[in-house]
Amino acid sequence: MAQAQLTIDLGAIRANWRALAAMNAAETAAVVKADAYGLGADRVSKALAKAGARTFFVAQAEEGVLVRESLGDGPTIGIFGGHMEGDAPLIRDANLTPMINSIDQMLRHVESLPGHPFGIQLDTGMNRLGMEAGEWAALREIALSQNPFLVMSHLACADEPTHGMNEFQLQNFLQMTDGIKAQRSLSATGGTLLGEHYHFDMTRPGIGLYGGLPFVDAQPVASLSIPVIQVREVNPGESVGYGNSWVARVPSRIATISAGYADGIIRAMGPKAHVWANETRCKIVGRISMDLIGVDVGPVKDLPDTVELLGQHQSVDTVADAAGTIGYEILTSLGHRYARTYVGG
Ligand SMILES: *Cc1c(COP(=O)(O)O)cnc(C)c1O
Repeated sequence: MAQAQLTIDLGAIRANWRALAAMNAAETAAVVKADAYGLGADRVSKALAKAGARTFFVAQAEEGVLVRESLGDGPTIGIFGGHMEGDAPLIRDANLTPMINSIDQMLRHVESLPGHPFGIQLDTGMNRLGMEAGEWAALREIALSQNPFLVMSHLACADEPTHGMNEFQLQNFLQMTDGIKAQRSLSATGGTLLGEHYHFDMTRPGIGLYGGLPFVDAQPVASLSIPVIQVREVNPGESVGYGNSWVARVPSRIATISAGYADGIIRAMGPKAHVWANETRCKIVGRISMDLIGVDVGPVKDLPDTVELLGQHQSVDTVADAAGTIGYEILTSLGHRYARTYVGG
């Protein structure tokens, strides 16, 4: 079988949620946008609900509908993108809770779904989503009189604990929400790790649940094992792969493994990335093709049938470094060609 195997450890996701929940006295929600960071929102949401999560967040109403189908009635499902044109039937039928980002969204919401729950998103400096101070000042009294479920904002630099932006946004958030009765939330994974001043009434971790930085103590969640299709001896002066970008200097043993950039193994990581054959780290050689990758397995004694790109030996962040990106992008890029197995459910 040439299909690579992606194993997703739901037990590790639950353990990561519990570990983050133990760090803060606030409610710990769970962010399952982008199909739970590529790992499957259906299975992941159910596992997190089982662990005790009561509030879930997605980016768009359509994602919320799928999460509602998985979870059934009960949990709150918030939508970061708010209430967009045409969303009212989805929001109503799946009982979703939009985070209102502007006066326009507020009007749309109260006109189309009067009395339907909502939250408020404020911009405290990131300039991405949410109401700015002036807009909020104009709407504040009316919005608060409708009992929003949450008033939230998002930190731009929380993965850098000493960055001045964290304190700057915290002060803005305190100022904008001073004296309100509604629940407040400022922090995702990074902010949760910054300490209790950042916790308010609810934290909203995503990446930490899935084994990624900045939660250094996270348990690994995704393992990716890739079958070896063929092994060949390559003489000095011979090349491997498209464009002859790698040329053997010494007699080499090259394995061709069955995955490529069509599976989200970002082509740009080629020159720096490794896979593991049992306990031996092996360099990727030549260009990553759509479905195939060359690996120097010279140092490996007993070559196994499969090699590991993600797992106990190598985290999503190590792979991300090789690609010049972040763990979030490695996870959300994972393709649909893998055989997916869930363990620890
Ligand atoms: C994605 C997102 C989160 C989760 O962020 P992580 O860094 O993955 O923990 C929380 N809040 C908002 C508004 C987001 O967009």
